[in-house]
Amino acid sequence: MFGSVVVGIGTAGFVRIRDMLAPLPSSAAEKLSVKGFISRRILEEQQGVKQITIEDALRRDDIKVAFVCTENAAHEENIRAFLEAGKHVCVEYPMAMTHKTAVDLWDLAQEKGVVLHEEHIELLTADFKQLKKDIAGKKLEEGSLHFTGGPLKPGFGFPAFSGIARLTWLVDLFGELSVTAASMEEDQENKYMKMTTQLMTKEQKPLMWIEERGPGLPRVKNINFRFDSCTMTLLPPAAREPVGLFMQDLVLFSQKLLGQVPRDQLHAERHRVLHCLELADRIQQLSQQGQGSAQNA
Ligand code: NAD
Repeated sequence: MFGSVVVGIGTAGFVRIRDMLAPLPSSAAEKLSVKGFISRRILEEQQGVKQITIEDALRRDDIKVAFVCTENAAHEENIRAFLEAGKHVCVEYPMAMTHKTAVDLWDLAQEKGVVLHEEHIELLTADFKQLKKDIAGKKLEEGSLHFTGGPLKPGFGFPAFSGIARLTWLVDLFGELSVTAASMEEDQENKYMKMTTQLMTKEQKPLMWIEERGPGLPRVKNINFRFDSCTMTLLPPAAREPVGLFMQDLVLFSQKLLGQVPRDQLHAERHRVLHCLELADRIQQLSQQGQGSAQNA
């Protein structure tokens, strides 16, 4: 069994505890057992699980795994502490706020001989799986993905990182990308922001990615993908799957702990995660350069 702790009791942290308490029967997730949670607040028991200190968790031999479920800005510090202590880590996306940090953390995991896993539930949704099937074999001419949602709480970082799930969709669907332009509009007083990014596929086909957040904006992904044979403007309807998204991710992470995931799959995953973070870095850089020159003008 892998004794585990959950760090950060927000939405994701709550679900991690819930899923470890009732893992998918006969799955690798049954090998995890939750030993406690860590929070900066003093909290009562959560779903019957007790709060422990991070020092305790780092020291205890019966704790082998940490789930890092804090806001993004606190991921690096927590991941590093647990990896240094020789514990496996599952972190909710995005792993870190820069590409370089993620490379360092992955190198550290390798040096310590432990698993570092970044959750990507957006790749496990029924609509994404259907979309991927539907576009297989089609040739993209151009496309856009426009995400809207409510404002984020502080600590979630630049939208290319907090929205890495959308970028990961595009990379998973269309392969490696490059960034040709990026800009950011922000009205902090009204909690509004819009990041617009121009991307290019390896086949030199343009893709636009927009992240727009503000009060009252519905949580929606609008797609417009023009292929050689057709245009898709709606996500395909897909029946909800019986196993929840975080549970599917828990099973995958547990399989990694048990050495059941093939090396080439691990390698491809690491490559995709780092590629997306590298793109996010570039998008942030270009957006901030643009803002800088606008302010200077
Ligand atoms: P959240 O805002 O619910 O929690 C984030 C952090 O805030 C946690 O550390 C939590 O302990 C703390 N927090 C929550 N309520 C608090 C309160 N009342 N007072 C003080 N601190 C409080 O965010 P979340 O949705 O759980 O996201 C956590 C991580 O999971 C992020 O990295 C996010 O990108 C990732 N993630 C979340 C989801 C999801 O569906 N929620 C999906 C994928 C990835």
